[in-house]
Amino acid sequence: QGIVAPDDIQALCESILQQAQQVGGGKVADYIPALACVEPEQCALTLATLDGKLYQAGAAQQAFSIQSVSKLYGLMLAMQRVGDELWQRVQMEPSGQPFNSIVQLEWEKGIPRNPMINAGAILVSDVLVSHYSASKNAVLSLVRQLAGSDDIFADADVHQSELNHGSRNAALAYLMKSFGNLHSDVGEVLDHYFWQCALSMSCEQLARSFAFLANRGICPFSGNSIASHRDTQRINALLSTSGMYDQSGQFAFEVGIPAKSGVGGGIVAIVPDFGVLAAWSPPLNNYGNSTRGMYMIRELANRLGLSVY
Ligand code: GLU
Repeated sequence: QGIVAPDDIQALCESILQQAQQVGGGKVADYIPALACVEPEQCALTLATLDGKLYQAGAAQQAFSIQSVSKLYGLMLAMQRVGDELWQRVQMEPSGQPFNSIVQLEWEKGIPRNPMINAGAILVSDVLVSHYSASKNAVLSLVRQLAGSDDIFADADVHQSELNHGSRNAALAYLMKSFGNLHSDVGEVLDHYFWQCALSMSCEQLARSFAFLANRGICPFSGNSIASHRDTQRINALLSTSGMYDQSGQFAFEVGIPAKSGVGGGIVAIVPDFGVLAAWSPPLNNYGNSTRGMYMIRELANRLGLSVY
């Protein structure tokens, strides 16, 4: 399949979305009860290119629970705040284990495998809680600035639901605490982590907010420098190896772009020097990745020839 001319990209997005709507299978996340109430048929696709064009199909302006996609915002802030010190407390290796796995954390003495799995993101939340007097505000203002929208909030029901059903994440946090790798109050750290997972955003907002990762750290819309070029390379590398849970290898093989998914059914994918793809549909496969989201990102990336490899 050849590379599609830009004029055809809008039509391509619409036809991929229509095909995705026929893709069955998958199950909406229900281990967080508030997520189980989401209408499963919803589907959205956005491509934001660095020249400022936006191609959208489906419910691209509908906000949904971004869940683990929020791990990226937290990581960015922590990298900026503590620099290379962060990598003493969290590794940069793929885990090959489910996102909420606990066994590896025990073997590796409370040092999470990477910041994209739950243990790593809880560790990052600890860094934020101990370095910011108002860590949630710090994340929220970053997200709003990046997305160019003040209309972004954490969903109080989802936040509460995660707090009520967060035993496994609490276990990860206490295990890290027992190894001396969590410094703040565990309750405060978990509250920050769950709050951040409960942020609601649309595909359009997500795609805009991550454009700096495709543009060597500069937001192409505002011209603001958001992160160093080196940090964007590092974040994209982590996404390539660990962003799609324990399906990251297959995703790199079939699609070939750095990406992050969340159990709300959202996926963002970064194409350096080109733009950002964002897709959303709630039903998840066994790894926790959106079945239709994977389909849409794979099709669009393959048709546009976007693999970085
Ligand atoms: N809040 C979810 C959890 O901690 C996030 C999981 C995800 O999206 O990967 O289990």
